[in-house]
Amino acid sequence: MIAHPTWVEINLDQFRKNIRLIKNFITPTKYCLPIKSNAYGHGICEIAKAAQDEGVDYLAVASLSEGIKLRENQIHLPILVLGSFHQEQILDLVRYNLEFSISSAFKVNLVEEKLKNQPYKAFVHLKVDTGLRRVGARPETAESIYEKLISSPLIELKGIYSHLAHADNPNHSYSEYQFYLFKSFLEKIKAKNILFHISNSAGMVHLPLDFQQMVRPGLLSFGLSSYKLPVSLREIGSCFSLKSKVSYFKVVEEGQGIGYGHTYYTSKQTRIVTIPIGYGDGYRRALSNKGSVLIRGKKYPIVGTISMDQLTVDIGNGEAYVDDEVVLIGKQGDQEITLFEIAQLCDTIPYEILCGFNERVPRLYKSNLSNTNYNITELKHVSSHNI
Ligand SMILES: *Cc1c(COP(=O)(O)O)cnc(C)c1O
Repeated sequence: MIAHPTWVEINLDQFRKNIRLIKNFITPTKYCLPIKSNAYGHGICEIAKAAQDEGVDYLAVASLSEGIKLRENQIHLPILVLGSFHQEQILDLVRYNLEFSISSAFKVNLVEEKLKNQPYKAFVHLKVDTGLRRVGARPETAESIYEKLISSPLIELKGIYSHLAHADNPNHSYSEYQFYLFKSFLEKIKAKNILFHISNSAGMVHLPLDFQQMVRPGLLSFGLSSYKLPVSLREIGSCFSLKSKVSYFKVVEEGQGIGYGHTYYTSKQTRIVTIPIGYGDGYRRALSNKGSVLIRGKKYPIVGTISMDQLTVDIGNGEAYVDDEVVLIGKQGDQEITLFEIAQLCDTIPYEILCGFNERVPRLYKSNLSNTNYNITELKHVSSHNI
């Protein structure tokens, strides 16, 4: 049973395969999986559980709330909160055993103040800005923060990290420059027994791994990349599909306007089907009269303005029946609509499209492995009846 006729389908077997391929590629470097924003829309708890099973070393989230959710759902891996924190969050961060990022002496003082007379220690990563110019201390300032951190009895420094500015380009020379700055900084302070990490997906593929003790590939872990991958990573694939069902069918005469504002007029008598998905689910209104869907293995254009909960498709002389499965992102037969196509049509990046699917859209997890488990449980049930 699904409570909403539109759903995101996650192929967990493919996700686990991606994790294994990346793990093989980076070993002995550690694997930190960023799962902020509901694991890029894939569902934070299920993805965290699968990652934990596959032996990922670390998880990274953006906020305290995401960290708490994981801790309340039996995730025991180390979790790094990437964003900056506010003073009223410090106690919860340490209570929930969340590691967090520090990038100023001011924040070190706040942590020390809050943890005075508390039975907790804070586990932190020093964030160094090597060129993104968002949160992060410049290398010159980071040195004194580092000294402060390693001499604090209430704080344990677990890592030092930075983040790349040209995040989706594996060959950008600026990434090499940032890498060089980061490395020089670490060599200067002679840090030992802590994790150095700078690479996101693109950085992991391109920058030398021998120096990096941990990498943070997000998008690539979900099987998405727009650049050529090394041979050993070629079997990485997307595990995300967006699906719905035909909810209505009608024949419309020539010259009729379709949907709000009549942004589309039929050029001949045609068949219009309605699909119960709209911008209220996260399927972007910018795709009105631009996007397409797959029904019965054929690609058809979305026509008219996409509304909050529904959209309309012109199937011409094509065939479609109420309840037919509709693919809006993913494969059907030999046809495919990729997330990159959708992002391009919306003039944005795949990350933003993925994060847009909200809680109204249920996530369905498909796995041949767990289907087998399910059958085993059923068999047990039957045999106990027989006895
Ligand atoms: C999101 C994020 C990543 C992952 O980036 P991808 O491009 O998805 O690999 C890595 N590091 C930080 C700090 C991030 O915020």
